Amino acid sequence: MQSEIKKIVIVGGGTAGWITAGLIAAKHLSANSTSSDNSISVTVIESPNVPTIGVGEGTWPSMRETLKTIGINEADLFTCCDASFKQASKFIHWKNAPCAKADTDLSKQSYFHPFSLPSGINKLNLGTYIGEQSSLISSSQTFAQQVCFQSILCEQNLAPKQITHKAYDYVANYGYHLNACKFAELLKKHCLNKLGVQYISAHITQINNDLCDDISSLSTDTAGAIEGDLFVDCSGAQSLLLGKHYNIEFCSKKSVLFNDSALAVQIPYETPEATIASSTLSTAQTAGWIWDIGLQSRRGVGHVFSSRHISDESAEQELLNYIKQSGTSVNLDDLSIRKLSFEPGYYKKFWHRNCVAVGMSAGFIEPLEASALAMVEQAAQMISEQLPTTKLTMEIIAKRFNEKFTQHWQQIIEFLKLHYVLSKRTDSSYWLDNKDPLTIPQSLQDMLELWKFQPPSSYDIPHNNPLFPAASYQYILYGMNFTTEQLRPNNQNTQLMHQLLADVQNKRQQLVKAMGSNRDLINKIKQYGLTSI
Ligand SMILES: Cc1cc2nc3c(=O)[nH]c(=O)nc-3n(C[C@H](O)[C@H](O)[C@H](O)COP(=O)(O)OP(=O)(O)OC[C@H]3O[C@@H](n4cnc5c(N)ncnc54)[C@H](O)[C@@H]3O)c2cc1C
Repeated sequence: MQSEIKKIVIVGGGTAGWITAGLIAAKHLSANSTSSDNSISVTVIESPNVPTIGVGEGTWPSMRETLKTIGINEADLFTCCDASFKQASKFIHWKNAPCAKADTDLSKQSYFHPFSLPSGINKLNLGTYIGEQSSLISSSQTFAQQVCFQSILCEQNLAPKQITHKAYDYVANYGYHLNACKFAELLKKHCLNKLGVQYISAHITQINNDLCDDISSLSTDTAGAIEGDLFVDCSGAQSLLLGKHYNIEFCSKKSVLFNDSALAVQIPYETPEATIASSTLSTAQTAGWIWDIGLQSRRGVGHVFSSRHISDESAEQELLNYIKQSGTSVNLDDLSIRKLSFEPGYYKKFWHRNCVAVGMSAGFIEPLEASALAMVEQAAQMISEQLPTTKLTMEIIAKRFNEKFTQHWQQIIEFLKLHYVLSKRTDSSYWLDNKDPLTIPQSLQDMLELWKFQPPSSYDIPHNNPLFPAASYQYILYGMNFTTEQLRPNNQNTQLMHQLLADVQNKRQQLVKAMGSNRDLINKIKQYGLTSI
């Protein structure tokens, strides 16, 4: 009986802490839950002295399912978190450096990685036709424009649904852009008021082990010792339990992904009715890239860069140049720019003894595809669904968890590296170093060889439920003008291909007429709400 898992203690009240608390509580504590168990408790401890990281404004579509499971009303996200719709990432100047002369046609310099899969992907791999049969396909369009109707919504900053759609339903798959601090507040309120999560505001000063080396309690400055059976480390970059206490080895990935610094700033819109972009804009710079995220009331903009390749001062200058060129009248001297540093990488294991790390305490790499919160969701969901009943089974679940998340980290790192490796930029040592084979994982080098002759397919991804499906690799490869040469005759159905490509073009035209702007829909949701599912 002593080894039963009853008391779950979550360290940290950032997005990772509250998403984990929400998913565990919705399954195990909530009155609506089938597995509701009165003897289980979930407690979140948060230090009043250590602020949350406060960035992390782009989510994946998976967040819709997570919020639905936790029981958040979707309209509340728009009224409480300054949220907007995210449908893609748009990569600008990644293929080539901006040329001084005629750099006006941004469509030639950019491409989208949309959230919707290529049309008919289960019937036909349209990637097969890129390269050899490119003459069949309009060359004036990028791959995403040819194979995915959602591209038009992203290009024209249109909404992914209409006001008549139920909460979380859609025409085009979407995630969110949101204010990270307000989002954590909304989750906290819901967890405490609706799900029965307990909350302690106190600073943890010491971590105490039992004789088996499991954590038995946490000493705090104002709330005494907090005992528990399972401790979830959501303490952010300092990794209080997994890293500091258990001293688990950290695997640095700086030799693959060089970026280790960020400058973040908030830019007000020129008018309250300014256009809200439907994608995260990611604009490549000489030693990094700039994110630009449109919320309702402001943009969140930041420069992620490699401190080995550019000084803080030059990185800030590039950020200010970007802001100036983006057409704001804000006085650049008034901006409050925040510097963040991070070590790219992850821990050798995430679940050790009765402690499991979720969020930044498990690892962090640059937010190029905004994968951090998606990883939080997956980790929290697995902990909730596989919650061990006793310490005897904990080891088996921990082993599985460690294997799964090591695979996820490896995939994310290779997928992000792909964006750099495909670039033709040679304008700085940063871009040249990124293409040095010594910095490219061997498995990515192997796949790049393979993709010269066959398009990415699910066979390239060795594990189930990958974070990035084969379609994502196609969007990046062909968005960056990579060529796949088909040496063997292509026996796929050409008629079906023509049909699918024509359907995409028709749907693009229909959607332009049918869908309102991001801003319009958000205003309507705030006024009328959304029908619950
Ligand atoms: C520049 C940048 C941009 C990013 N952009 C994105 C993005 O677009 N999309 C995305 O998905 N992710 C993004 N991320 C990552 C994202 O911000 C984080 O994954 C997310 O916010 C989760 O953070 P966290 O909860 O793990 O940590 P934090 O927010 O840092 O929370 C840590 C918590 O631990 C508590 N704590 C710490 N020490 C103690 C102690 N001694 N006692 C008690 N409590 C303690 C703190 O009080 C706090 O509540 C970005 C990150 C950075 C750095």
